[in-house]
Amino acid sequence: MLDFNYHIHSTFSDGASPMWQMTQQAHRSGFKHIAITDHGPLPFQNDWSIDQAARKAYIKMINEQKDLYPDMNIFRGLELDYIPGITEDFQKLKELWDLELVVGSVHLVKHPESGKLWFIDGPKQNYDSGLEKIFHQDIKKGVQTYFHQINEMIRTQKPDIIGHIDKIRMNNMKRFFLPSDPWYQELLEETLTCVKSCNCILEINPRGFYKGKIEDLFPSDIALEIIRDNNIPVTINTDAHKTDELSKGHEKAIKKLKENGINSVKRLTENGWEDYAL
Ligand SMILES: [Zn+2]
Ligand SMILES: [Zn+2]
Repeated sequence: MLDFNYHIHSTFSDGASPMWQMTQQAHRSGFKHIAITDHGPLPFQNDWSIDQAARKAYIKMINEQKDLYPDMNIFRGLELDYIPGITEDFQKLKELWDLELVVGSVHLVKHPESGKLWFIDGPKQNYDSGLEKIFHQDIKKGVQTYFHQINEMIRTQKPDIIGHIDKIRMNNMKRFFLPSDPWYQELLEETLTCVKSCNCILEINPRGFYKGKIEDLFPSDIALEIIRDNNIPVTINTDAHKTDELSKGHEKAIKKLKENGINSVKRLTENGWEDYAL
């Protein structure tokens, strides 16, 4: 079993288990290196991200968990959303929240002209109505804006880890486009090149799979080939929202990586990122 996971939520944001339960379960299961990464604060009302006002309590709680389990590395983290012109600078937040690790993700795609936000996560109805009302059924434009937003995040915010890089695929369910469409592949390749050139770690995330929404991983099989050929550094995160998701999808992720000729991932320890043979 893998003993690391740097994408873990708790009830501080949209997780179902309190933080103490997540760390207790991680410790019991033999994890050695984890990060608590609740959804970072957003400057507008929503029901899934942490409140700015909870900053001190959040940091205190993580530090208490560190003290409780000295034989397990627990990194202070957040999963930060990037929305150009709306979200706060990642480095500033990292300092203010005293973070050791940031997972950078895009869940809200900002329309380049109207500035309206398309929520691509959650139930498929959100995706469909956003595509209709905000991007007027122009899937190519929506997907292109999504990937360009990620590229901009990578270049300007430099998160440590890039979260679920092709989540835009999840609610599509092969209805509006196919991952094999040349225009889609071109966008994906461009984004992966961006990851490579900025020295970020790419997350291999099985959440879409274990939630029964997609058959493969974030990122897709096609992306895994590009990752292998370009030697892009990856790690495995389960994006756990409750205790039984801490190791969920590990087997699937390892199998997929090996099938695609990727036999080594990155693991963050007290000494920094190191190679870990699968
Ligand atoms: Zn996410
Ligand atoms: Zn997450």
